[in-house]
Amino acid sequence: EPDPTLRPEHLPEDQDRSLRPQQLSEFIGQAEARANLRVFIQSARQRGEAMDHTLFHGPPGLGKTTLAQILSRELGVGFRMTSGPVLAKAGDLAAILTNLERNDVLFIDEIHRLNPAVEEVLYPALEDFELDLVIGEGPAARTVRIELQPFTLVGATTRLGLLTTPLRDRFGIPVRLQFYTDDELFEIVSRNADLLGAPADAEGAREIARRARGTPRIAGRLLRRVVDFALVESDGRVTHAIADHALTRLGVDHMGCDGADRRYLTLIADAYQGGPVGIETISAALSESRDALEEVIEPFLLQQGLIQRTPRGRMLAQRGWRHLGLAAPDGKAQ
Ligand code: ADP
Repeated sequence: EPDPTLRPEHLPEDQDRSLRPQQLSEFIGQAEARANLRVFIQSARQRGEAMDHTLFHGPPGLGKTTLAQILSRELGVGFRMTSGPVLAKAGDLAAILTNLERNDVLFIDEIHRLNPAVEEVLYPALEDFELDLVIGEGPAARTVRIELQPFTLVGATTRLGLLTTPLRDRFGIPVRLQFYTDDELFEIVSRNADLLGAPADAEGAREIARRARGTPRIAGRLLRRVVDFALVESDGRVTHAIADHALTRLGVDHMGCDGADRRYLTLIADAYQGGPVGIETISAALSESRDALEEVIEPFLLQQGLIQRTPRGRMLAQRGWRHLGLAAPDGKAQ
């Protein structure tokens, strides 16, 4: 069985913290986004104004939270953090907004999960830095308008498609985060090994990078596990041999797919002759929520060309068949 804690969404926040880059110059990868953000940060600083509202979207563990924190640090302003599901009532958001200082960054993670009533309050806040609050109930109810300090909303979402159009339209700076290349992950693993005080040779770091699913958070997680194996079963050094041994023990294959990925691929191959098969059917068969499949499992498999999305459902691609060591039935898969 795969280790479920390898999945980014299960990683406790504080384990991550020590490895987080603190400045844009320390942030590896996402070169285009970084270059653009540098311009927007500098422009906001020169104008002495809040930076425009920014939306980071992409799979979990790619650096959305990290970038939000870096933004506030480079802008030289305060950082407040919350998340869509935590803001249950309009008053919860109002309390946070009224406490912001001039030009602060407010980070809302999982912003696609905002309650519609809270979202309504957010619109005028984003546009005019004003809050319209209803006080009291029934005939005695009245609306009061509260002026807010200008601020920058930084939203993060794994599901851009679930954002309402009005909310999406209010972000002047949308940024799509990409999976990292092996070279970028190699740099990240090497840096993390230094930060953890774990000696890693180049081939050891490279093996972890190759098998990290294009995701820095997974790279950090795998590195820690490889260090465990290196300490207990070897001399403590992260070599290619110990990395390969540890990752194989953890059920991470040479491409970075873990047990959940392989169960997904195998299901389509064995039970549906390569598909197409609908996402709901896959979800029921694997007992995984549709959200988890669409947010965590599928983006990587699509990016690697192992599966294809068609109007009639998911299909195993030629590469997917090959990865499973199987031959596609005649006429199936490109
Ligand atoms: P997200 O918010 O997209 O889920 P995070 O910002 O929490 O992802 O990043 C997860 C972890 O991965 C962080 O703890 C950080 O250490 C690491 N990380 C992310 N992006 C980078 C990067 N570009 N360089 C180095 N480490 C990174």
